[in-house]
Amino acid sequence: MKSDIEIAQEAQMVHIREVAAKLDIPEDDLELYGKYKAKLSDELIRRVSDRKDGKLILVTAINPTPAGEGKTTTSVGLGEAFGRLGKRAVIALREPSLGPCFGIKGGAAGGGYAQVVPMEDLNLHFTGDFHAITSANNLLAALLDNHIQQGNELGIDPRQIVWKRCMDMNDRVLRNIVVGLGSKMDGMVREDHFVITVASEIMAILCLADDMHDLKRRLGRIIVAYTFDGKPVTADDLKATGAMAALLKDALKPNLIQTLEHTPAIVHGGPFANIAHGCNSVRATKTALKLADYVITEAGFGADLGAEKFFDIKCRKAGLAPDAVVLVATVRALKYNGGVAKADLGTENLDALKKGIVNLEKHIENLQKFGVPVVVTLNSFVTDTKAETDYVEQFCRERGCEFALSEVWEKGGEGGIELANKVLLTLEQKESHFKPLYPDDMSLEDKIATVAREIYGADGVTYSAAAKKELKRITDMGMSSFPVCMAKTQYSLSDDQTKLGRPNGFTINVREVYVSAGAGFVVAVTGSIMTMPGLSKNPAAYGIDVNDDGVITGLF
Ligand code: ADP
Ligand code: MG
Repeated sequence: MKSDIEIAQEAQMVHIREVAAKLDIPEDDLELYGKYKAKLSDELIRRVSDRKDGKLILVTAINPTPAGEGKTTTSVGLGEAFGRLGKRAVIALREPSLGPCFGIKGGAAGGGYAQVVPMEDLNLHFTGDFHAITSANNLLAALLDNHIQQGNELGIDPRQIVWKRCMDMNDRVLRNIVVGLGSKMDGMVREDHFVITVASEIMAILCLADDMHDLKRRLGRIIVAYTFDGKPVTADDLKATGAMAALLKDALKPNLIQTLEHTPAIVHGGPFANIAHGCNSVRATKTALKLADYVITEAGFGADLGAEKFFDIKCRKAGLAPDAVVLVATVRALKYNGGVAKADLGTENLDALKKGIVNLEKHIENLQKFGVPVVVTLNSFVTDTKAETDYVEQFCRERGCEFALSEVWEKGGEGGIELANKVLLTLEQKESHFKPLYPDDMSLEDKIATVAREIYGADGVTYSAAAKKELKRITDMGMSSFPVCMAKTQYSLSDDQTKLGRPNGFTINVREVYVSAGAGFVVAVTGSIMTMPGLSKNPAAYGIDVNDDGVITGLF
């Protein structure tokens, strides 16, 4: 089998205007970035806004192995399968971050014969959205430090600065740094921090904003610091809002590309699901719903993170009501959850599969709590044996769950027909009664406890003293109606990545809490999760190269 990048490079792409034509988007509404990428114009988004919505299908997964379990691959393949069945479908995905590209996971354009292209562009700089977000984030940081340097009229307490600089790279040495060293003219010395761009509040804001007006309103409300007498200082107070919005003018427009089978894919925004809210932009999803009858969107990592936040943050805030969920499982990840080492996942092991399948069971139960019909799909690997696949199918049937084997990685859209038919049948026969997990007016502590108990299966929650204090401050500021954005390891339902399967008898430990007042949620950081990842001993970057003709290799 060829590598993802080899398959992508052999693809015969069509001009993006032809992809747009499938959705009746005239060329005039495309802002072209070369032949194969385009941004959708604001006029188009406005013009289609009173059309009827198509069906919204969320793709999520069980707890993954470190390689990813094929949500993007499945989303792309399912979209292509809809296309083969003559349905008008759009795939709405997140933009990849450079961090995992050069780290351990590789790209995020799907895999095998179910990919979006041009994959190198998408995985590297694409249309520059992440650079714009990074710039807006760091402009705010620069204006903040400059305000202090220029006399600190607002009385900002340098020990209570909460805004962090950001970069789209896994770079652990930037987690805790000292800035302003040197002479008086080099600024005020203080401790500072970097987060990865996909964890920045600007990324969340871009993904939750309806339009430029809403974007500016949200940017203006960002809390960057507190004064010596404890009052919040916002981006508006620093007169930063207009310039940040100007930097984000184009980044706010959704991007259109194509799959290997020329199915339209709207790829926009990309917060991580472990340390941020994990969904593509509301603007992209809403526009997609106006342009197609079926919209397939992916939320990051396992359903305990991505799907929970998709429902409780994105859908709640944007007024979206998903119609069905596709839950991706792999035999590999189930065996991994059953305790098999990464290197042995290719060998048949029914005992480990039986042990690990409790993870799938818990995710099915969790998704049912949101009232949305679930279809389980097994993303088939060539190493899977019939006995293993049969066992998973049987398990789902016994739980009254629709099941379909997916072979999109090997066969493209053709391999997703069975899944597409199951999804169509579900949409026809089962009504969605979507509801978020908790109400807005519940206290922040109760919201965190509800997610911990209901979704993770925890006995309870413990807080550091600092986290407790911050929860009180946020509540006192009148922001307790916000949903919570849990930051947690993706490998376990608990906050300890070594607890696989369906752990019980554990508590969730909230180490830090902060409010993202512009995005409109409260982040609870659990366990030892980091908002700036590091690289491993053998990062993917070692294998990436470009030849004299500009052809990139090693970007898997
Ligand atoms: P996720 O979106 O869940 O993180 P991806 O769809 O990005 O996962 O897939 C992660 C990696 O796994 C990709 O490199 C992809 O090529 C590979 N992959 C996905 N499905 C399969 C499969 N069925 N067989 C082999 N490799 C696969
Ligand atoms: Mg993905």
